[in-house]
Amino acid sequence: MTAAGEAVGLFERSYGAEPTQLWSAPGRVNLIGEHTDYNDGFVLPFAIDFRTVLALRPRSDGRIRVASTFADDVVDVEVNELGDIFPGDRDRVAEWARYPLGVVWALAELTGKTGHGADLAFASEVPVGAGLSSSAAIEAATATAIDALWNLGLDRPTLARASRRAENEAVGAPTGIMDQMASLLGEADSAIFLDCRSLDAEVVDLGFDGAGLELLVMDTRVSHAHSTGGYGDRRAACERGAKALGVRALRDVTIADLERARELLDDETFRRVRHIVTENQRVIDTVDTLAMAGPRAIGPLLDASHASMRDDFEISVPELDLAVETAREAGAIGARMTGGGFGGAAIALIERGTADTVARAVSRAFADAGYVAPSVFPVTAAGGARRDG
Ligand code: ADP
Ligand code: MG
Repeated sequence: MTAAGEAVGLFERSYGAEPTQLWSAPGRVNLIGEHTDYNDGFVLPFAIDFRTVLALRPRSDGRIRVASTFADDVVDVEVNELGDIFPGDRDRVAEWARYPLGVVWALAELTGKTGHGADLAFASEVPVGAGLSSSAAIEAATATAIDALWNLGLDRPTLARASRRAENEAVGAPTGIMDQMASLLGEADSAIFLDCRSLDAEVVDLGFDGAGLELLVMDTRVSHAHSTGGYGDRRAACERGAKALGVRALRDVTIADLERARELLDDETFRRVRHIVTENQRVIDTVDTLAMAGPRAIGPLLDASHASMRDDFEISVPELDLAVETAREAGAIGARMTGGGFGGAAIALIERGTADTVARAVSRAFADAGYVAPSVFPVTAAGGARRDG
């Protein structure tokens, strides 16, 4: 069944009525630009053709009810009670419900306005924890729906900021704004070139369709066991590096500055810094290359990004390296791990029609190495959050 069908079915079972609106928002893949977000740098994500669907019916009172195919229970609150729940008393609601209710709260906080309540039911095609940002998808679907319900008239970057605030403060996850921007601003066959300092976002043509290319996601199913510690560690190294170099953030360090950085920093901090500085440049180079030479020419940048994360930032794992190497041997134009590291997924840019061949090669290599079977599937760059019915 489609996610829309599931959302409608769940709505009817949960609330005993039919929904009057359907909304959806996509997950995302980051094409290039890893760990650059918290260094005030650049990222290049795109929205994908896996969506979270929201079935909704406005209410005439101030109640908000949320249901999800992930959860057994409906969570039921009053709009004017959200300020008591978030952020301090968030334990009062189930963890998953903090994502949508946190967005409702953040929009009310931001605008000082609220409106009638609503009944909401979610179903999703975005796999959780595969690095495709199911969290941004549920947030963006909620944000666009509530913006319309309350006649807030907010632009999409503002909805992204409110969604991020929900994830940071209502859920308590310290994430950047990339995922929400991608889910809200995505367009078909396009990526979002995002400056994480100014939050300027530009939609850039990927041209995969015209060039006969596809993007394959290779989820290693390795869970991010060290991700919390490792992430904090890398962030600290970046802050240390920026401080020693006398800049506000590593965004302000150029490739030409690296020679001086090597003299000032210990070897490990230097390599962490070098990843960020070269990765920022690779994002800019990818945008330029897409425009000047087309998508086939970005392969070496994807490959260099992987090498930098493996050797300088040291956030890869053997499963990610194997997926990347095998994809390349099976004909991929370029491949890299994506996401925070220590597990999760890699991506490969491939010729259209070769997804099965590459997927089989990766699965075989994992079996030979004794690794858990990976989940390998193609994604296409798709439109952002929208009303579907
Ligand atoms: P991801 O990389 O998939 O974004 P996160 O840990 O950031 O992983 O977010 C996943 C969490 O988001 C889930 O554990 C759940 O709490 C919430 N979530 C995402 N999609 C849904 C959904 N359709 N229904 C309920 N909760 C969801
Ligand atoms: Mg997430």
